[in-house]
Amino acid sequence: MSDRPDALVIGAGPAGLMAAEELARAGRRVLVAEARPSPARKLLMAGKSGLNITRDEPPAAFAAHYPEGWIRPYTAEFGPEQVMDWCRGLGQEVFTGTTRRVFPRAMKASPLLRAWLARLAGLGVTLRTRWVWQGFDGDGLRFATPEGDRVLTPAVTVLALGGASWPRLGSDAAWVPWLVARGVAVAPFRPANMGFAVNWSAHMTRHFGQAIKGAALCVGDRRERGEFVISARGVEGGGIYAVSRELREGVALAVDLLPDVSADQIAARLQRMKPSESLPNRLRKLGLAPAAAALVMEFGRAMPPAQAVKALPVPLAGPRPLDEAISSAGGITADSLTPDLELRALPGIFAAGEMLDWEAPTGGYLLTACLATGRHAGRAAART
Ligand SMILES: Cc1cc2nc3c(=O)[nH]c(=O)nc-3n(C[C@H](O)[C@H](O)[C@H](O)COP(=O)(O)OP(=O)(O)OC[C@H]3O[C@@H](n4cnc5c(N)ncnc54)[C@H](O)[C@@H]3O)c2cc1C
Repeated sequence: MSDRPDALVIGAGPAGLMAAEELARAGRRVLVAEARPSPARKLLMAGKSGLNITRDEPPAAFAAHYPEGWIRPYTAEFGPEQVMDWCRGLGQEVFTGTTRRVFPRAMKASPLLRAWLARLAGLGVTLRTRWVWQGFDGDGLRFATPEGDRVLTPAVTVLALGGASWPRLGSDAAWVPWLVARGVAVAPFRPANMGFAVNWSAHMTRHFGQAIKGAALCVGDRRERGEFVISARGVEGGGIYAVSRELREGVALAVDLLPDVSADQIAARLQRMKPSESLPNRLRKLGLAPAAAALVMEFGRAMPPAQAVKALPVPLAGPRPLDEAISSAGGITADSLTPDLELRALPGIFAAGEMLDWEAPTGGYLLTACLATGRHAGRAAART
């Protein structure tokens, strides 16, 4: 491959690989430059606990999970049905689990990635690892490579460098000042799908690592059933991530520890218990697990017990940092992009994936939008 590739994709995550596939299918000669020693490290990490690649939901319900409406046309174009077909096309059968979560049968990401890389190689895509984009050099793009510095001047480029969470997997957002200097607006990165710090008293230490199951998390008007874990750092896990956007914006968290029992029923049950019974005993007899009872003792001791069980305020001490978050909010703003995801300030350069300014709950919505924007940007770049 010469230093003048026809089409250059920077970043070999799901968005970049999808853009490369579309460019190659359109007959372009594609070079994918990836900073890390191997591609798609975050995708592989996502697969460690089961690769939740999309949600098998009707279009309106699916779209509602993208608060930034501008991203919805892309996920409407390439949504759950298309993602499932695409997986099957790579020889990866999928199944729909609880709450409509879709996983490859293999659960891990590695078989899917292997098949995908083989298909890309078959389409003539060249993948170069340890190629670190370092910014612009006049009209070119400068890379540090194992063979020394290179400046590339491709006909078209797709940037797919990821967001700013888990930087050790490659997406370190180093690119922000380079694009800002060229007139691209980038909204500040913030953690998304993250845990929150809690200033626990020493009493909680023995409950660290315990899950609070079957609770409802109440933030403003929202009430989400979910599970979360009490850790030394605070609270984390799926239930918290689902409401993390609101919590990040400062909305208070209250937890309903017995969501299937009414406050009146709880009050009646408590009344039937001996007045001499200690509060921890009464909470246990209500059916609360030790960690849930400890949470009531931690934050609800001064409240009427029935109220504490149904709407326990959990004071949060701020979001956990970006490098622990599943994803990030912020990135290249919608105003900086054409509908084809081309940078208005830098014609011929497109962008896709988590480096764009949208956020969504984890659990399939993130990967679907990365694949969808990668596909759209790749197709549009191929026409340029
Ligand atoms: C632990 C974990 C679990 C997750 N689970 C799920 C899940 O179940 N479902 C879901 O939908 N989402 C999940 N996600 C989120 C999902 O993995 C990401 O949203 C997705 O990988 C983002 O894709 P991307 O292609 O935009 O960026 P990335 O996957 O981050 O890829 C960007 C690539 O660009 C490369 N790069 C960065 N800078 C440079 C540079 N200067 N030069 C060259 N290359 C560069 C990086 O090394 C990286 O390979 C999870 C994330 C984490 C961390």
